[in-house]
Amino acid sequence: MALIVQKYGGTSVGSPERIRNVARRVARWKSQGHDLVVVVSAMSGETNRLIALAREVQGEPDPRELDQMVSTGEQVTIGLLAMALKDIGVDARSYTGGQVRILTDNAYTKARILSIDEHNMRADLSAGRVVVVAGFQGIDAAGNVTTLGRGGSDTTGVALAAALRADECQIYTDVDGVYTTDPRIVPNARRLRTVTFEEMLEMASLGSKVLQIRSVEFAGKYRVKLRVLSSFQDEGEGTLITFEEDEHMEQAIISGIAFNRDEAKITVQGVPDRPGIAYQILGPVADANIDVDMIVQNAGVHGLTDFSFTVPRGDFARASRLIEEVRQHIGAREVIGDERIAKVSIVGVGMRSHCGIASKAFRALSEEGINIQMISTSEIKISVVLDEKYLELAVRVLHDAFELDREPV
Ligand code: ASP
Ligand code: MG
Repeated sequence: MALIVQKYGGTSVGSPERIRNVARRVARWKSQGHDLVVVVSAMSGETNRLIALAREVQGEPDPRELDQMVSTGEQVTIGLLAMALKDIGVDARSYTGGQVRILTDNAYTKARILSIDEHNMRADLSAGRVVVVAGFQGIDAAGNVTTLGRGGSDTTGVALAAALRADECQIYTDVDGVYTTDPRIVPNARRLRTVTFEEMLEMASLGSKVLQIRSVEFAGKYRVKLRVLSSFQDEGEGTLITFEEDEHMEQAIISGIAFNRDEAKITVQGVPDRPGIAYQILGPVADANIDVDMIVQNAGVHGLTDFSFTVPRGDFARASRLIEEVRQHIGAREVIGDERIAKVSIVGVGMRSHCGIASKAFRALSEEGINIQMISTSEIKISVVLDEKYLELAVRVLHDAFELDREPV
């Protein structure tokens, strides 16, 4: 008998029929003798609807009041799921985040979990009940309702699993696991049986939106056994997120190809090449709270150099204005912006012990005539920035080059 935390996303609870399906799945696990804590999201589309509603009333909704009302989406689904469970003879009790006492800081709309009170959940579990908890929400020390950021129910699930020292945290979603890349771009993309936390973090932060990134960080930190599964299939083992030092079923060098269309590039040309220049350019960007991702600068010729970096596309206009001011101040020649870029990354912990991965990737791209604009590497990742129009081709070419459609031996 195990203690299992299951989390069901918005599409999995998107209609009364689907909620009944979830109840049947929960009942099946329960009948096998397991203790179950079930976290649910709001019905699909509901959180968006609530946010839009708020904006109709106040252009920039007050964060406290926004959390107060946006959190109601999950309050609906916990009640419904508990009813669906009782309806098939499974005793259950639902809790909001505040009722559990999922204590967070008071950073409305992006609160962080500080502690979780196990008391109510333990009592129900000992009484043989299924515990149903609202995802995405908590309460601060003063009793205000807070939310954990979009996709935050994943983090609720993992945090509960950590607090309860659950045997496994199962994230049920509308895909049956984590894939080598987006199957809409590469039809023969393969489901990974396992992927390490570090790889998953890279993939999640790069836009493979299966899990909220914070939930992956949480699981890594507290060593929660985390599995991604489909709620629309009865069979299937999904993808298990593992630790690198664990025994692997798969020993792939490369696990996946991630990509991101949400960045834009800014280049300052003809920059006087002297100490402090990087700080002068990027300091104001950091002060404006704009995340800089890739940075490229080379030693200058004739005392001048070019300096390029990428920012989230949503911050492009703001960053460009700042950099234009900087340009005048430092006496650089020109600022060139490019919003039509994409970033493609090869991710794999096996890179640590294998060389030649980068050259293989660059060769594959060059054979298709794809120009690489920027390169950055870490121990387990190689990223390239290229013209957005080559994104899909680049992903396909790299997926092929590393034969990711094949099960590693
Ligand atoms: N309902 C929230 C959202 O749509 C939280 C979640 O689904 O994880 O972002
Ligand atoms: Mg989600």
